Amino acid sequence: MNRVYLISTGYELLSGATADSNAAFLTARLMDLGLQIVGKSTVGDERAALETALRSATAAADVVITTGGLGPTFDDLTKIVACEIMNCQLEPRPEEEQRLRDYFEARHRPMPEINLRQAMFPAEALVLENRVGTAPGMYLHKNGKILILMPGPPREMTRMFADQVEPRLKLDCGLENQVARRTIKILGLGESQVEELLADLLDDQEGITSALLAVDGEIQVKLALRADAHDPNSGDRLEYLTGLMRERLGKNVFALDDDTLTSKTARLLMQQESSLAVAESCTGGLLGKMITDLPGSSSYFWGGVISYSNAAKQLYLGVDNDTLTRQGAVSPETAGEMAQGLRQRSGVDFALAVTGIAGPEGGSPEKPVGLVYLALAYQGGCKIRELRLGLPDRELIRIISAKSALDLLRRHLEYNQGSTGGDK
Ligand code: AMP
Ligand code: MG
Repeated sequence: MNRVYLISTGYELLSGATADSNAAFLTARLMDLGLQIVGKSTVGDERAALETALRSATAAADVVITTGGLGPTFDDLTKIVACEIMNCQLEPRPEEEQRLRDYFEARHRPMPEINLRQAMFPAEALVLENRVGTAPGMYLHKNGKILILMPGPPREMTRMFADQVEPRLKLDCGLENQVARRTIKILGLGESQVEELLADLLDDQEGITSALLAVDGEIQVKLALRADAHDPNSGDRLEYLTGLMRERLGKNVFALDDDTLTSKTARLLMQQESSLAVAESCTGGLLGKMITDLPGSSSYFWGGVISYSNAAKQLYLGVDNDTLTRQGAVSPETAGEMAQGLRQRSGVDFALAVTGIAGPEGGSPEKPVGLVYLALAYQGGCKIRELRLGLPDRELIRIISAKSALDLLRRHLEYNQGSTGGDK
């Protein structure tokens, strides 16, 4: 009872106008539970396509989860089609009807009669209350299959999942006795590199499922003890496997489990009683935001300079005019002068600098979009790194640049503190 199939519905998802954040959220949460996602599909609001998707999902998986299409209008068909496939009759539920009437009355709006469709459910189904919208969800456990219908708006879906679906799934799928899980977080290697390094370890390991996930430039290896692994040594095996993987991935592992790049770097800074300042060009403040997202950052974070223009790089960081004109604003030399200039002026222990071409315009054959230079200035030296992020995505380039800058510091604090040499 651990195979899951996800179905997202709506033309806005099919056309790409809306990113399928529901599927992304559900995938992460379900994998955390140790469930296996065996398939996903996206369908428009068309009856035939929905029916096909639901039929193949119920054939392929034990648990089918849909989001969207639970509204009151004629194109909201998920519940109707799903009930046909599961051989269930939709019947009015007086308490749900009352809930809907109350909802509209509280907002001083008349309730369109068509909304009553949202109060129809099969007798054998459990109604999932929607605390932030009008469309209730549905949880049906029938003939060895679990069918879960949730509304499309992410705010409604995530709340419903966390409050009502997850606890029930844990019970019904026997996940209550799951012993442990581990997440290994990696920066500096691509997904395929990680896969290659870990190939033999990712293959089925007795009782342990593993999955690779790429999240905003990070790679995560998720390990979970399967619910059916009962032997008392399985916890040790999970730790052993985690250790083996960490060894192979080396310094590219920046954190485990709930630890993040920011919290890990912050802890290292505090342990070493060091301070940090940042000089940002292409990331436009994102690095500073990431650092200050963590409460308590004022104890080690001096602040930052968003030095977007050449003038700001000269005025606030003391970058040499010659460097800017000869080497360009996106160059290792400029990155180095930004970091060293800021370190000198602020008096911090460490200064990070980022300068790059986030695009979509501004690239050239020699300096393409995605070319980024990072610098870390510290007592006795300055490290420079070049990134070539061949991505046409401005936002992702900025996110990966900011993370990579922080990771440059993390590596230095973790492995090279006190020496001027050393590499990645
Ligand atoms: P629906 O429940 O199908 O009427 O969807 C309501 C709204 O929720 C849509 O207009 C979308 O903006 C949003 N939505 C639906 N499904 C998703 C999804 N999978 N990911 C993100 N947003 C969604
Ligand atoms: Mg829809």
